[in-house]
Amino acid sequence: SKVLQISNLHVAIDGKEILKGVDLTIRQGEVHALMGPNGSGKSTLSYALMGHPNYEVTEGTATLDGQDILEMEADERAKAGLFLAFQYPTSIPGVTVANFLRHAVSNVRNPDRKEGEDLISMREFRKELREQMDELGMDPEFARRYLNEGFSGGEKKRAEVLQLAMLRPAFAILDETDSGLDIDAVRVVSEGVNKVAAKVSTGILVITHYQRILNYIKPGFVHILFGGRIVENGGSELVDLLEREGYDWVRAKYPEAA
Ligand code: ADP
Ligand code: MG
Ligand code: MG
Repeated sequence: SKVLQISNLHVAIDGKEILKGVDLTIRQGEVHALMGPNGSGKSTLSYALMGHPNYEVTEGTATLDGQDILEMEADERAKAGLFLAFQYPTSIPGVTVANFLRHAVSNVRNPDRKEGEDLISMREFRKELREQMDELGMDPEFARRYLNEGFSGGEKKRAEVLQLAMLRPAFAILDETDSGLDIDAVRVVSEGVNKVAAKVSTGILVITHYQRILNYIKPGFVHILFGGRIVENGGSELVDLLEREGYDWVRAKYPEAA
């Protein structure tokens, strides 16, 4: 099984250091939660791993199965097995969910594919899409919608889970997957994530400052990010502690990090 290894990662935005040496190792099949108060650098970590151009890695490494992902373009990262839930733009005019997924699946499964060539066959793709949507309890009509056009928060998240199910990545980073969702949507999305994770043995990093989604996606490993560093590592007891006491004790324990 593969390993995603982040070592001493420092990341700056506009010359300001946000991440100050993050260490994190995730194996396939493991579910990790990265928690932390607003502004602690959680999204910065996911953007840096995604290769967002505004996030400058100034020190440290991130490897997937020994391959340096920081040197890769975003699409190369996807081909290497990394999935980032928010990697597609807010909306692409004229591109349906099905169309988008057919291209994404073709890219990941056939890394040497040239743009516009060698798409996965429509017949094979449709069958697989139908099966996955069925398993996730999604209306087949949804695949004909234009990507993200007029999607509710819940529909965007469902589209992401469908993407996860179709791409079957080795690793997935899900940033604030529960923000803006009502409790039923959180449950549906979480169940989808769990199904995919169990079937494909995806290694998952759930990033959240709420404990809510972690009632449904059970992390075996919990990390608290504060002031750009991981200050605590543990198990689900950390989730319970944060639920009971919030982040004040973290601020008190690590005043130099704030
Ligand atoms: P979190 O996801 O934990 O809430 P972020 O990674 O979004 O934290 O933000 C970490 C810090 O980086 C915050 O202090 C925030 O103000 C700053 N930051 C985030 N994005 C930008 C940006 N585009 N330009 C400047 N500062 C930013
Ligand atoms: Mg934030
Ligand atoms: Mg964030």
